[in-house]
Amino acid sequence: MGGYPHKTLSIVMGDFNDGMEYSAFFFLPRDFYNLYDGTPANYLTFVAVHETSHQWWFEQVASDQALQPWVDEALATYSERIYYESTYPDLVGWWWTYRIDFYKPQGFVDIPIYEGQGFRPYTNAAYFQGAHFLEDLRTRIGDEVFFAFLQDYLTQSRGKIVTTADFFHLLREHTSTDISDIILQYFQNVY
Ligand SMILES: [Zn+2]
Repeated sequence: MGGYPHKTLSIVMGDFNDGMEYSAFFFLPRDFYNLYDGTPANYLTFVAVHETSHQWWFEQVASDQALQPWVDEALATYSERIYYESTYPDLVGWWWTYRIDFYKPQGFVDIPIYEGQGFRPYTNAAYFQGAHFLEDLRTRIGDEVFFAFLQDYLTQSRGKIVTTADFFHLLREHTSTDISDIILQYFQNVY
């Protein structure tokens, strides 16, 4: 889709309970290392993929981290799905079950962090429902249009701060397929 923009990427084990991304750098928690069993089916792997993808979705295509966190977090989470389907396709079903649906995600994708009522309801909505939204969108418009849109989204948005409205505006330049029911299902605002 587009190259990695830095010369290095540093990954540091941290003493807190989740990954955290920065430019050319991210933390992964000690617990994920301790649980790592040498297979790709574990938190260390998919959270490493997630945080690495933030070097595109956040670092290259910026968005409002507080008011519209789904813009980068849904794509970072969905990047885990794309990682498994392209590297370990047999694990895609496991990923949906273990990473996403185990938590029975609900809530609107486009919540600000202030409405999340804590870490789990927030990640259920912005990250996990966000991944389901992107999966449903992809199913509706087809792989070819979906990935052409993503490529164009990266190319046109690189170096900018994008909004939810920008996302849907560009999406509609790629497809005239009706997705209003999907937006109504996942978003509290109308786009
Ligand atoms: Zn993230």
